[in-house]
Amino acid sequence: MKERTLSIIKPDGVASGLIGEVIKRFEQAGLKICAMKMIHMSKSQAEGFYAVHRERPFFESLTNFMSSGPSVVMVLEAEDAIAKNRALIGATNYKEAAEGTIRREFATDIEKNVVHGSDSPEAARFEIGYFFNSLEIVGG
Ligand code: GDP
Repeated sequence: MKERTLSIIKPDGVASGLIGEVIKRFEQAGLKICAMKMIHMSKSQAEGFYAVHRERPFFESLTNFMSSGPSVVMVLEAEDAIAKNRALIGATNYKEAAEGTIRREFATDIEKNVVHGSDSPEAARFEIGYFFNSLEIVGG
């Protein structure tokens, strides 16, 4: 089934010059970019985005990091886009991520792991709506 997912190239990925590298991998895997913009999240926008993690011990550090610099947010579309994107980015902890995944190759820390990808259809719906309105998303 055609599906949409939200991707973020996080502040560490942008700062390390990885925008092109990440986008190339998405395009080569058949993930179609149907919306994209660069943003610099405020602390409260980062807190809203990661609200599901507000009780976690790393919430403060994570939301500081996500608001520390610009990121690139994208809507990706494909058959099984959520699973395809998660397969490309790899496990949360880059040390456990499979060879060849974005996090395995480029992450420097469990937190600074270069990319975000929605992990379920419910999360994708919330996350896409958090950053984009329907007029900003191209395609049927
Ligand atoms: P994801 O879906 O693979 O991004 O992982 P989670 O939803 O579990 O966590 C969200 C983000 O929080 C991760 O991508 C990391 O940036 C960060 N994170 C996860 N676990 C930890 C942790 O144990 N410590 C710190 N500092 N950050 C973490």
